[in-house]
Amino acid sequence: MTSLMWFRDDLRLHDNQALSRAAEAASLGDAPLVAVVLDEPAYPGTRPLGGATTWWRERSLYALAHDLAGHGPLREVDATVKETLASQGITATSSPGFTLVEPWEVTNGQGQPYKVFTPFSKAAASQVAGDEPEGVPEMGASASSASAWPKPTEPAWAASLAEHWTPGEAGARERLAQLDLANYAEERDIPALNATSLLSPHLRFGEVSPREVWFAAAEEPEAAKFHSELLWRDFAWHRLYHLPNLATENVRERFDRFDWSWDNPRLKDWQAGTTGIPLVDAGMRELWATGYMHNRVRMVVGSFLTKNLGIHWRLGEEWFWDTLVDADAASNPFNWQWVAGCGDDAAPFFRIFNPETQAKRFDPDGEYVRRWAPALSAPPIVDLQESRQAALDAYAEIKD
Ligand code: FAD
Repeated sequence: MTSLMWFRDDLRLHDNQALSRAAEAASLGDAPLVAVVLDEPAYPGTRPLGGATTWWRERSLYALAHDLAGHGPLREVDATVKETLASQGITATSSPGFTLVEPWEVTNGQGQPYKVFTPFSKAAASQVAGDEPEGVPEMGASASSASAWPKPTEPAWAASLAEHWTPGEAGARERLAQLDLANYAEERDIPALNATSLLSPHLRFGEVSPREVWFAAAEEPEAAKFHSELLWRDFAWHRLYHLPNLATENVRERFDRFDWSWDNPRLKDWQAGTTGIPLVDAGMRELWATGYMHNRVRMVVGSFLTKNLGIHWRLGEEWFWDTLVDADAASNPFNWQWVAGCGDDAAPFFRIFNPETQAKRFDPDGEYVRRWAPALSAPPIVDLQESRQAALDAYAEIKD
């Protein structure tokens, strides 16, 4: 019987348990292994991809088709194939590998999901130990060696994304090989330095497994801090699994009464990086140019949008969803709710980042701001002190 491998958010050959099982089944049955993707970039029940992730996925699939070429072509099949298989009584099995630990497998002493990161991370970390990640499975050779997968055309708007990233497993493995955590704990908050792994979009598309990243980092001096960041990713998926409306509903219901604005024209200034606040504008321009923004600056622009401008976090989340190459169904809404203060285990609402103080602390020489926003045109669109006070007053109205 033919062994069918359906690639979704696991666009890699290394440490891909589903692929290993499919290759094993094919070789046992002396049958062909057929690799497919469905022509449904958004799986039923999930959000359609944004612009930047669509760009990434097209290139990642092209790279995968190339990597698979010696073993048989990658085929795109109609989404209805799933129903056809089901109606013929053919069962599909899925394999773990997108997160370190499956979101439903971590529970507290009462068998309940975790709402707080620290105990979750301890429980999840204790389950990561085990066998080293797998290599590329033996898949046998195919007569067809050339890949017929069409090369994606480069839209003009994405030219600068292509300068910054190499979607696909080879690009992911190159980044992984460069992992250097010698000063990670001290330098990961400095946006001018390339002190973080830049693996997020590769993890987003499963071009490298989080287990492989975990084990690679374990060899490094500051593994604990880095492991904890990987566990935040798992925690976001754990929360999304238990809160499927994470992208649309405040986790803390009292925030339903918070008077966030949906039609503030300043949203456009925020998106374009023309707020007149240097660190915010630099971050938003980095995002537009590269599809990425440094984590510290994501927190600053998120706080500025939701607190100083009083705009609903969902509008910020949607902009990130469209523009980030690592836009992720769990991490994006989870972190937005964290920044806005309405998630569980979130930053308290009254912790309002002052972008000027943040710039002094994390970009003291102004290197990051000069790189992305060398010339500021306009005065600030909002007074930081007054808007901070207005946010605190609005919060006082909904506090329990
Ligand atoms: P590193 O510091 O090298 O960390 C290693 C890996 O750990 C990352 O690749 C990522 O997979 C994971 N990680 C690190 N920090 C976090 C975090 N706070 N939450 C979840 N996982 C984390 N990350 C996304 O992958 N997709 C998103 O859509 C996303 N949206 C965000 C929105 C906001 C408002 C904020 C504040 C953060 C968001 N993040 C998101 C988290 C974080 O900013 C990025 O994961 C990180 O900047 C990626 O850079 P890196 O790979 O160099 O990280």
